[in-house]
Amino acid sequence: MCEVVDGEDELLRAVRNRFRTGATAIKLMTSGGVISPVDPIRVPQYSSAEIRTVTEEASRRGSYATAHAYSPEAIRHSVLNGVRCIEHGNLLDAETARLMADNEVYLVPTLATYDAMARRGEEIGLTEIGAAKNREVLNAGRNAVVLARDAGVRIGFGTDLMGELEDEQLAGLRLQCEALGVYDALRSATSTNAALLRRDDLGRIAEGAFGDLVILDGNPVDEPSVLWDESRTRTVIKAGQVITRQ
Ligand SMILES: [Zn+2]
Repeated sequence: MCEVVDGEDELLRAVRNRFRTGATAIKLMTSGGVISPVDPIRVPQYSSAEIRTVTEEASRRGSYATAHAYSPEAIRHSVLNGVRCIEHGNLLDAETARLMADNEVYLVPTLATYDAMARRGEEIGLTEIGAAKNREVLNAGRNAVVLARDAGVRIGFGTDLMGELEDEQLAGLRLQCEALGVYDALRSATSTNAALLRRDDLGRIAEGAFGDLVILDGNPVDEPSVLWDESRTRTVIKAGQVITRQ
């Protein structure tokens, strides 16, 4: 899924190999991660030329690159070098949010993962360094989503959940509803995500679009908890076929 790559030539080779083996987009870690032990979360870790190598190769192929970045300095550095989207973005400030909006760069917050790691860090073997990084980004994340919305940034929806934490997906919807309100959160998870992927056959109900639907037992605009309350009835339809009714 991922590898450490340094230098423009090696990055170009890695990006081409990813596309050769079926990737549809490239994610680049332009700053450290919560669970990665040795790279600080705030420091931009690629040069401009390295990021440009990736973003230009991806766009030449009709695709795009998205950057894992937390701090304003890492986000700014990524935006100015051509990424289409910022993943996580928890430490975003208002000025950098405006820069994102001016450059039509999306934000995909992943609020669920920090909330889950704060509660279940021991279960997944989170180190003390990881736990400290998690505390730094947990509360800032909700604020970042609001700053982005106020600046006019298009906000998608992601979770970044892996392994044992994958059962936390619905908590992500709850957290994004709490930050943005239910209407904007639903739009993030459907049409905005589809626009980010440049897929007009996803994220909307229309002739020619995929019949991927979740039918809920209630109206989430009036009662948002129907989105994450697992005791409520729901029907999942995929490509027009009923998959589960529970
Ligand atoms: Zn990431």
